[in-house]
This record gives sequence, structure tokens and C-alpha cells, in this order.
Amino acid sequence: MKTFATRPRPEPLSPRPCPLCGGARLAPAWDCGAFRFVRCLSCGLVQQNPQPEASAVLARYDESYLAYEEERQFDYRDLELLALADLRFEEAAGAPRRAAEAAGRRPRVLHVGCATGALLAKLREGGWDCVGVEACAPAAAYGRRLFGLDIRASTLEEARLPAASFEAVHASHLIEHLNEPGAFLDEAARLLVPGGLLVLTTPNADGLQARLLGPEWRSAIYDHLCLFSRRNLPAFLAAKGFAVERLVTWGGWAAGLKPAFVKRPLDRAAKRLGFGDVMAIMARKRLMDVDMTGHGDHGAA
Ligand SMILES: [Zn+2]
Repeated sequence: MKTFATRPRPEPLSPRPCPLCGGARLAPAWDCGAFRFVRCLSCGLVQQNPQPEASAVLARYDESYLAYEEERQFDYRDLELLALADLRFEEAAGAPRRAAEAAGRRPRVLHVGCATGALLAKLREGGWDCVGVEACAPAAAYGRRLFGLDIRASTLEEARLPAASFEAVHASHLIEHLNEPGAFLDEAARLLVPGGLLVLTTPNADGLQARLLGPEWRSAIYDHLCLFSRRNLPAFLAAKGFAVERLVTWGGWAAGLKPAFVKRPLDRAAKRLGFGDVMAIMARKRLMDVDMTGHGDHGAA
């Protein structure tokens, strides 16, 4: 499926260390002409470097993004529902859901980068109280109007939602667009109740297509700032206080890529063996934060 992609334009660019591990040893990975990706020699994260600043990135999400999403919103919703089913999300959400209900309220889900809110409208039918955050103001307004949803037109950080107020946080094809994915994971952890679930979907830079195609890979686009792998994303989540419960990948061969006859067997093998083009990961906020420094106050018994 076509991905929303803007063209390189004059925007202030700045070089930066690896946002995952802070490493400064970065090797050229993919030269895409007007922009390029580097690979961190410490953790393997692929990132665009130099990178446009966050304000320039946000300015891309105007009416044209709503037009793109409006046309595809139910296809994307159905893909998101398939990912949630593959991750066995509802089963994993059982414990935090029951805890919310025992406290006399409905379970709450936050969708970050919810576009028109089509997925939230579906989750609401399943008994979830829904909040969306969407940086594209026209898309947020469209979702409020069409579905009657609570969608805040802002970034996650600007939304200033209360701590420990969600049983689940969902973000599909969002984290690869962020300059500071670590700050996003910190905020998601703050918003979740202990034992709450974070679900992310993002391209897999370790997948077969990324390895074969490099700068020609369909996810090596100007709008993708960080491209994670099935190895470094779980490590990143673990460092941010999450326990990874499930990771699935899919898509062995892109539609339209030749030879076409390998698509079906490769798609099947990618899903089974984990070298698919896109990955979905489900992680649970740890019940208690483990103090890794050994200097923390463990409290009096
Ligand atoms: Zn790194």
C-alpha cells in the first residue's frame, strides 16, 4: 500500500547522535540522494542524519495528509485490527481491563497518531473508552465530527494527559516519524497504568526487503527518521521500563516487485521466521521499575 510521503524540501537540518543509545559512531547506510540514512555502530539503529527539526516535520501534516488518510482510513483500520489480533491484544489486555472495571470505570485506550480515529471507533464498540492524539489538526477535527471521538489536535507531549490514566496505548506507523522516539516511549510509560500495554507497528529494518533493497526499500523515505529492527526495538522498550510480550512481522515481498511468483511463499515464510517488512510489537509496562543503578532508595520495610 502507498505510504504518505512528502518530498525533500528546504528545512533546517541538524546532525545528531543515535536517539536509541546516544552513540556517536555512525556509519553511512543508505544514500537516497536528497537525504541519507546512517547506521549506529553500537545498537544498529538506522536513522536519517542530518535530520529536519521537529517543527518542520509537524508542518507537513496539513490538509493533504487528511486527504490521504480519509481515502484509506478503513483499509488501515482493518490492517491495525489484524495486527492486534496477531498480537492477541484483547487476551493480553484482560488483566488491566478487569482492574479498571473493578475500580468502577471502563478501560481506557489512547491512540497516538490516530488520524481520523477509525480504529478508535471500532475499539469503542468493544467497550473501550477512547482518546486520540493527532498532530494533523484537520484530521483530528474530521474524526471528532465523523465518529464523535475525543481527539486532541497536538503532539503526545503537548496533550498533557494525566499520568497512569490508560490501560493501553497504541501507535501504528508513528515512531519512525519522530525525532525523539525515546521521549515518546517515556511519555507512553508515564500515561500507562502499571501492567498496561503498549502496541507499536513500524517498518522492520532487519527484514528481507530492507536488506535486499537498501535505499530503494519502500520505507527508506524522507518522512521516516528512525528505522528500527526486531532486535533493537525490543531492547529500546526494555530500557524504557517495558517487558516485551510479543513481536510479529509480516510481508516478505512487496506487491509489484519482481519476480511476483515468490510473493506468496515469501510472505508466509516471513511471518513464520520473523523477517517480514513490517513489525508489530506488544509490551507491558513493568509493575515495578527495577533500579538498574543500585543506588536507589529501596525504602524501609
Ligand atoms: Zn545507537
